[in-house]
Amino acid sequence: MTKQRVIFCDFDGTITENDNIVAIIRHFNPPGWEAIVNSIVNQSKSIKQGVGELFRLLPASMKNEVVDYAISNARIRAGFADLLRYSKDNDIQFYVTSGGIDFFVYPLLSPFGIPEDHIYCNGSDFSGDAIEITWPHPCEGQCTTDCGMCKKTIINRFPADRFERILIGDSVTDFEGAKLVDVVFSRSHLTLKCAELGLPYHEYETFYDVIDQLKRQEATT
Ligand SMILES: [Mg+2]
Ligand SMILES: [Zn+2]
Repeated sequence: MTKQRVIFCDFDGTITENDNIVAIIRHFNPPGWEAIVNSIVNQSKSIKQGVGELFRLLPASMKNEVVDYAISNARIRAGFADLLRYSKDNDIQFYVTSGGIDFFVYPLLSPFGIPEDHIYCNGSDFSGDAIEITWPHPCEGQCTTDCGMCKKTIINRFPADRFERILIGDSVTDFEGAKLVDVVFSRSHLTLKCAELGLPYHEYETFYDVIDQLKRQEATT
């Protein structure tokens, strides 16, 4: 029996060329943000804790500026619409698994027609003094990484005996998922991590590279 292929695709730094969380925080430049970003990247702070702290540096009254900045400055990586079409044409399920925030993830993805229940990301609450991130998809089961949006938990809903699981990512939010899946497409920090852990990976720069590799694998099975 051939396995159903399923793609778990990161958002920040993957679907978009840059990390939107870092771009927002760098632009508004509240005191103390660099140390928090460094702690997330070197994994001395969990993603959930770090991202929560970063947004608490921004007053909720800045909502419109923050949302506008995030949406107008993001650029979609080349080939994304083509990868979606390729997935649809070849019966590959496609999920966005993002450590990003709803207020930029949904608007930036809206032109692409991805069903909302195929998009996993964090939430936001602007009703208090500071911007508060909410976590509708927390770690379950054996994951103790405090991911915020737990990719491992999502991926585990697709058992390895029935699914060929493919992860596309770039950085720290992808590390745990990369250890689980059958195929990793990586760039940036994720490439270094895969090399360090001895996990096989395919490097990509655009989604055309991903499509080419998926076609090659198709041809050999
Ligand atoms: Mg990323
Ligand atoms: Zn987790």
